[in-house]
Amino acid sequence: MTGEGGSVVSRKKNRSDVRAIFAVVLLASVFPVGPLPGSPRDLRGTDGQYSGKQGQVLVVKVPVSGEPREVVGRFLGRLVLFFPARSEYVGLLGIDMQDVPGTHELAVDVASPEGPKKLSYNVLVMKEKYPVQRLTLPKDQVDLDDESLVRVKAEQEQVRTVLDVVSKGRFWQGRFIEPVSGAVSGAFGRVRIINGQSRSPHNGEDIAAPLGAEVMAMNDGVARLTVDHFFSGKGVFVDHGLGLYSMYFHLSEITVEDGASVKRGQVIGKVGASGRATGPHLHWGVRLNGARVNPYSLIGLSLDGLTAATP
Ligand SMILES: [Zn+2]
Repeated sequence: MTGEGGSVVSRKKNRSDVRAIFAVVLLASVFPVGPLPGSPRDLRGTDGQYSGKQGQVLVVKVPVSGEPREVVGRFLGRLVLFFPARSEYVGLLGIDMQDVPGTHELAVDVASPEGPKKLSYNVLVMKEKYPVQRLTLPKDQVDLDDESLVRVKAEQEQVRTVLDVVSKGRFWQGRFIEPVSGAVSGAFGRVRIINGQSRSPHNGEDIAAPLGAEVMAMNDGVARLTVDHFFSGKGVFVDHGLGLYSMYFHLSEITVEDGASVKRGQVIGKVGASGRATGPHLHWGVRLNGARVNPYSLIGLSLDGLTAATP
């Protein structure tokens, strides 16, 4: 049965490949020169280009002379806050896991004593391939009872309220670290289809680690919220400033106080299986300016000592 299923999938794939090639040929004849649909011509993008896959973090550098008061970018309706570094301004731009592939504008406003200045960048968002998991489960294991439903809605609202706050200061500095070492599932962006219904995509990475293993903060910040939620279990939300948040879920124990400052590498909790979890692991999630990004895209980010001197 498995082999048969596999061949059906590959036949389908081949057919869609053929269609894709046909579509490209067709488009090439309709648009012999100039951009393909998805990269509209009215984008200015006069000041530079960036590109990245869905879920990635881009380091955007804006050359700024004089003494600006504020450098703020807008990308797909989200704010990107820049900070000064040497002779330029730097911003971390998060591409959401579901941002539409194609070219979008990052518009940057520079407020300076010499007057406002506008800059425009093109950001090419490329498609990421996410795993799809189809499950058939008994209905009573899928549907929540009324009481749980009310609880889950309230918890979602609580999380939204916290993540919507953009702290003006940058608390993080230097490199980012993995909160715990272990086998990474590669489940970022995974779509689960349960009994034929699509669920919201998995918005973090799962790291398998032994029960009680220490979980560290990925960088400096403030523990804005500690919770014990229905799905995510015991969790910590750390605000790293400028719209960057990290989340650590399914903990067995939380070892940081609400509102406390944390340092990179500081233990904030222990690995567990609280909430809806099939075994001990850490769910590590990152929000950047409201975008759900792959936490591993922060690891090894080329910051070239840009943030060494933190005020
Ligand atoms: Zn997870």
